[in-house]
Amino acid sequence: MIALKGKEVSETIKQQVKEELEKLHGYVPTLAIVRVGEKPDDISYERGAIKKAESFGLSARSYVFAESVSEVEFLEEFKKINQDDAVDGILLLKPLPRHISEKKAEEVMDPAKDLDGISPLNLAKVFAGEKDGFAPCTAQAVMEILKYYQIPVSGKRAVVIGRSMVVGRPLSMLFLKENATVTICHTKTASLAQVCSEAEILVAAAGKKKMVDASFVGKDAVVLDVGIHVDENGKLCGDVDYEAVSGKASMATPVPGGVGAVTTAVLCLHLVQAAQRKGRQV
Ligand code: NAD
Repeated sequence: MIALKGKEVSETIKQQVKEELEKLHGYVPTLAIVRVGEKPDDISYERGAIKKAESFGLSARSYVFAESVSEVEFLEEFKKINQDDAVDGILLLKPLPRHISEKKAEEVMDPAKDLDGISPLNLAKVFAGEKDGFAPCTAQAVMEILKYYQIPVSGKRAVVIGRSMVVGRPLSMLFLKENATVTICHTKTASLAQVCSEAEILVAAAGKKKMVDASFVGKDAVVLDVGIHVDENGKLCGDVDYEAVSGKASMATPVPGGVGAVTTAVLCLHLVQAAQRKGRQV
């Protein structure tokens, strides 16, 4: 089984970002990362995104709110970040605490700065198959991996496990746009392993540790693992039992070093595109 390595894809996107940056004639786009609370997962994602942005020649700053911030106060401040001319793109770390409506925050988000495709307009564009919005970075990361490794998508049977608005649904639409025949699986799907085993391209985005074993994988299928978990030995793992599928799949993304490594690279690509669409240069 061939490992589909995210690092190589990320390096190619870095090159793309570099070329796009040259068109900005010295202007350095700024990413705003907005976090509420101190969840370790959020902090580690934020650190990774800042590191990646800086290594891509971009600038990043964090806006951190206490978990206790009221909805009114948060939305007011979030609006200001959206209106700040010094900010080219925004990443809002989710989930937000229960007392803050994510829907309201998504509606406040300026679609032109919405790098992770959470605003209603960007999602509508993804669902309509239009190119000029921003798709959620993780969903696009999966497509970038397929593109980099020249894995054909058109006419293929793609199965996506998961129907969340951040990964499963938008990703299914990106597959459809590339002319795959798509099946979306979820917690109520009957005979899940059987349905998955018919896939030529299988994406696991269920958020369930190592749930995809050999019985989910058809011979020579390509498997992409979106899940991120910590296993019983304290090591990172995905939704796919990588060892178990290695005898059946032709290619698979490892965790770590797969989809996650590409997600933040896509975020950087979206940032430079947002700055360009605004006509930025110095
Ligand atoms: P989510 O919990 O919002 O959605 C999970 C989806 O999977 C749901 O639609 C549910 O119906 C489906 N599902 C859950 N259990 C299932 C089961 N046993 N059988 C079939 N379907 C099942 O999660 P999410 O936000 O979409 O994230 C999914 C995973 O991806 C998580 O592990 C998350 O940590 C990871 N993630 C990774 C990245 C990345 O950059 N690699 C980014 C975002 C999320």
